[in-house]
Amino acid sequence: MKITSPNQSILPLTAKRNAQDCLEIGGCDVTELVRRFGSPLYILDEFTLRTACRQYRQAFENYYPGESQVIYASKAWSCLAVCAVVASEGLGFDVVSGGEIYTTISALDRAGMTGATLDKIYFHGNNKSREELEYAIGVDCIIVVDNWLELETLVKLGGQLNRQKISIMLRLTPGIECHTHEYIRTGHLDSKFGFDPHQIEAVFTYIEANSVLHCIGLHAHIGSQIFERQPHEDLGGVLVQWYKQGLERGLPLSQLNIGGGLGIRYIEEHDPPTIEEWVKTVSRSVAAACEAQGAPLPKLISEPGRSLIATACVTAYTVGSRKEIPDLRTYIAVDGGMSDNPRPITYQSPYRALVANRMNALNQETVTIAGKHCESGDILIKDIQLPKTEPGDILVVPGTGAYNYSMASNYNRLSRPAAVIVCEGEANLILSRETYADLIRQDRLPQRLSPA
Ligand SMILES: *Cc1c(COP(=O)(O)O)cnc(C)c1O
Repeated sequence: MKITSPNQSILPLTAKRNAQDCLEIGGCDVTELVRRFGSPLYILDEFTLRTACRQYRQAFENYYPGESQVIYASKAWSCLAVCAVVASEGLGFDVVSGGEIYTTISALDRAGMTGATLDKIYFHGNNKSREELEYAIGVDCIIVVDNWLELETLVKLGGQLNRQKISIMLRLTPGIECHTHEYIRTGHLDSKFGFDPHQIEAVFTYIEANSVLHCIGLHAHIGSQIFERQPHEDLGGVLVQWYKQGLERGLPLSQLNIGGGLGIRYIEEHDPPTIEEWVKTVSRSVAAACEAQGAPLPKLISEPGRSLIATACVTAYTVGSRKEIPDLRTYIAVDGGMSDNPRPITYQSPYRALVANRMNALNQETVTIAGKHCESGDILIKDIQLPKTEPGDILVVPGTGAYNYSMASNYNRLSRPAAVIVCEGEANLILSRETYADLIRQDRLPQRLSPA
């Protein structure tokens, strides 16, 4: 049986309708999970996540003639269990803050994977603090340098920490446009990320003059939720050109990182290439450019986030109030919203939904799914066809594994939901639901305000 590319599926790969007419994921009845763990609930399907990891790795083995390494852009969803699963599939990590470094190495430590993974952590970010850099150097992350201040800070830190060598890569802005939301577009020249390529010779000169900077490669990431293949095909050629330029200057380059960005199918109309097609495109583009330009094959790194984990997770909500405005709109409210999924309000991202406790019911009405926050813009899905729902029904929104929990907030002092991982009929809590006490955990009341 050929398994679908997870990023082309709307639901997790194990999703099916069971004998009770309910949605089942990873062998677990979603309505049972909500009864047991509460609502809203993130439900992560381990099989779908592992399948995506394997498809990425396998495709690089099939299509790239040199060495390769897939690393997980952990900002998509960074927590102990996700990091442990991803590490066990042989992936490395892209981290963008001290907190993500801490989460990743804590997971590796507890999962007994430190030795296998520690040299595969890449630290990104356009404004890493001195403390973060010191921490990253201490645990031997490879630092993907974004700007001049960072180069200078690393040289100073190298001296203070008595380091002979700090392994770095350089992030460049390749000047490649792609069609995605402007907030998640990063490759065009007017971007806050990376060195302007016009400065590349000056950067190389600076690195040559400071022997502590051990530059092992170049990096570019052009954006997210991309359906076209052309931008990544173009990126290979551009990066290899700079790679060759660096090698000719005598830099010890051996890696190219082409970033992430492959899109997923949130709604039927979305039509992303498969993981295999995307890997084939970038592999061939880099290999062909090396051949054409007479450069040695670099170790090829890619760092997918969304396409690895988004489809593996759904969010289950409980249906609550209903407001019908005749001839205008019917709102159905759920018990979460922009605090557990800020993507619709931030990027106008579209989602699908289904009624998990009546899978066979026919669509009967067009409704708008609203969250429970004090914000008119807190709308999860506009104008979706659904069966008639009642309070207490379980509404499932698919495609919530990436940039949901990781962007979640406590707006209106809502507790962040729990998350469970499901596999072959077993469900385990991976993030417990926040309690009211958790909500005031960081609050401090100055003495003068608490006379008693
Ligand atoms: C966000 C990001 C990624 C992952 O992007 P996806 O679209 O989630 O695959 C990879 N690399 C960098 C530098 C990023 O900022």
